[in-house]
Amino acid sequence: MSQSKTASPSFLARVPLWQQILVGLALGVVVGMLFKSGAQALMPVGTLFLNAIKMLIVPLVFISLVAGITAMSDSAKLGRISVKTITIYLITTAFAVSIGLLFGTLFSPGEGMHMVASGSAEAKQAPSLVQILVGLVPTNPVTAFAEGNILQIIVFAIALGVSMNLVGEKAAPAIRLFDSLAEVLYKLTDLVMRFAPIGVFALIAGVVASHGIEVLLPLAGVIGVIYLASLAHLLLIYGGLIGGLARLSPLRFFRGIAPALAVAFSTSSSSGTLPVSIECARKNLGVSQGVAGFVLPVGATINMDGTAIYQGVLALFIAQAFGIDLNAGQYLMIILTATLASIGTAGIPGAGLIMLGLVLSSVGLPLEGVALIAGIDRILDMARTTVNVAGDLMTTTLVGNSEKELDRDIYNSDNAA
Ligand code: ASP
Repeated sequence: MSQSKTASPSFLARVPLWQQILVGLALGVVVGMLFKSGAQALMPVGTLFLNAIKMLIVPLVFISLVAGITAMSDSAKLGRISVKTITIYLITTAFAVSIGLLFGTLFSPGEGMHMVASGSAEAKQAPSLVQILVGLVPTNPVTAFAEGNILQIIVFAIALGVSMNLVGEKAAPAIRLFDSLAEVLYKLTDLVMRFAPIGVFALIAGVVASHGIEVLLPLAGVIGVIYLASLAHLLLIYGGLIGGLARLSPLRFFRGIAPALAVAFSTSSSSGTLPVSIECARKNLGVSQGVAGFVLPVGATINMDGTAIYQGVLALFIAQAFGIDLNAGQYLMIILTATLASIGTAGIPGAGLIMLGLVLSSVGLPLEGVALIAGIDRILDMARTTVNVAGDLMTTTLVGNSEKELDRDIYNSDNAA
């Protein structure tokens, strides 16, 4: 560690940011394991970094989306992009639950635990589809900004951008203003990201320090299965789609999104990672501001493949732990409810655990399962958030590529930050 402190700025400047962040991540894990209380004292440094990226979310989503829409001349394109985005999000999520169920069946992490249900816990009520749709339009955009309601901000931004396009000549100064503000916010994101190696280091050290081996060991099996299933989904499904469908290098994809994955892993928040994801998509993958500004914020709110994998594995784990046999209908029900529950999961730490109750109750599994997992949930959250963010970026790449909104020269260049 002392070496990195004494390194000259010129040396650091030569190391790409994604490598610096990964080093921060690895050092954070080591420091968290070795110096428990010392590592927890680093938490404020991590929180400071987290606050700085969160500060960017609302203005960045709003302004870059308006600027992106006004840059898209073809209005039919927006409809096409929306349909492609939602379709890919839904299909990959259904795949994710299935992979979770497959790994949960293959490795049976709950076998032999012999838990007994008492039937005292209660499930959370899911909002209805009508409620979700009605809630999309903000009655007051300022309230939506203040509350950080991303879906409402997206709806308002699209409406404003489309109106600006319709106005034509008179809207030109407004369009230029949003364009210029978007550039300023990208620069600000860039500046905040320079602190990412330190921020990620401090955040991960704190998390590792607060999860002792005694908490993790009894559930090591299920943790391992979730990490394995997540890795399989990342490499096979995402890597496969990027290479097979878009004919782009999966290796460059993963290298380009590494900063976003590291921030997702250490913060456990897709929404919090959003500014970093947008930056990676534009700067490293060469996706246009319009596509990145639309697909990523939508994804951070509704596309949660990692959460879906987690729910698939855990539904089986809990059934096995309580000695309950599931039939084919119940498997299908899990795929359906886990897909819907992952859509309803907020992109914040711990949200997936609350939604797990929904999945369990849909097939009559004991809700005490939620309590069983609560102590290790943060460790699982790190894996699922990483997959959630990778899924958003994979979809952005596919949509950008199919709409000719992806610059292959940038994607294939060696200058990724
Ligand atoms: N923490 C996850 C995310 O932000 C959501 C979850 O808890 O599953 O993507």
